[in-house]
Amino acid sequence: MSIDDTTEVGTAPAGAGTGIRISGLTKTFQVGRGRTVTALDNADLHTEQGSFLALLGPSGCGKSTILRILADLESPTSGTVLVDGKTPETLRRNSELGIAFQDHALLPWRSVRKNIRLPFEVAGREVDKDYVEELIALVGLRGFEESKPAQLSGGMRQRVSIARALTLKPSVLLLDEPFGALDDMTRQNLNMELLRIWTEKPATTLLVTHGISEAIFLSDQVAVMSPRPGRIKAIIDVDLPRPRTPELMRTPEFHALVDKASEILFGADGRADAES
Ligand code: ADP
Ligand code: MG
Repeated sequence: MSIDDTTEVGTAPAGAGTGIRISGLTKTFQVGRGRTVTALDNADLHTEQGSFLALLGPSGCGKSTILRILADLESPTSGTVLVDGKTPETLRRNSELGIAFQDHALLPWRSVRKNIRLPFEVAGREVDKDYVEELIALVGLRGFEESKPAQLSGGMRQRVSIARALTLKPSVLLLDEPFGALDDMTRQNLNMELLRIWTEKPATTLLVTHGISEAIFLSDQVAVMSPRPGRIKAIIDVDLPRPRTPELMRTPEFHALVDKASEILFGADGRADAES
């Protein structure tokens, strides 16, 4: 457990305070002929403003649904979702959300530079050209400003997605398996990059990943979900010092946290509620 209480979870009432406050979130989808699928069942998740939280869970447990609700792309069936006291709709309208999903959704006819500046245009804001150049440098794409997405590697395309997610200086960054389709080596490199980027441009970050090690390595907290219908089974506080370097992954403390997350994720149901 951490000594200071900045990582404390689950104690604030719904709606109070800053950070992400998800309370009693249930989402049911209609799938035709009166059939429904309950993706989320009474999920609770509280994080602190500016913290990095990774969401781990089996396929189909509702991870993307949580992010899509936070992004105001879906609405809850019941429950409340607030970030810094604001609804997803308000956040979206204020352009306070930065989103990068696995499907990078770059505009193929636009260059790297023009993809990264797109959010300014969509929001009807004046393009801050200097900031666009700063972001290009931040994600290591200097020299590729004029390239089109098809001329880039998969990893480079995800760098563009992340830069574009940061364009409007979001207070909330939602990343849904952004590196999921990439090879291990590229993924590890990009995780290191992500850590550096997050340190330079802090935002309340929620990352969906299926990599347990990367979840521990990057995060302040790791939320482990149950199989569908998804709930938050446990929150693991990652009390590892920052700044983090790859050497950290060889320490016993790191391995202990990876083991703990694996046990909660894959362990028998009876042990599943053992919280940190
Ligand atoms: P995860 O990201 O954890 O793999 P999802 O959040 O994508 O899971 O999906 C959770 C469950 O909800 C799955 O069973 C999925 O089929 C279902 N689901 C998600 N979106 C829809 C939708 N728009 N319509 C119907 N079912 C959906
Ligand atoms: Mg998903």
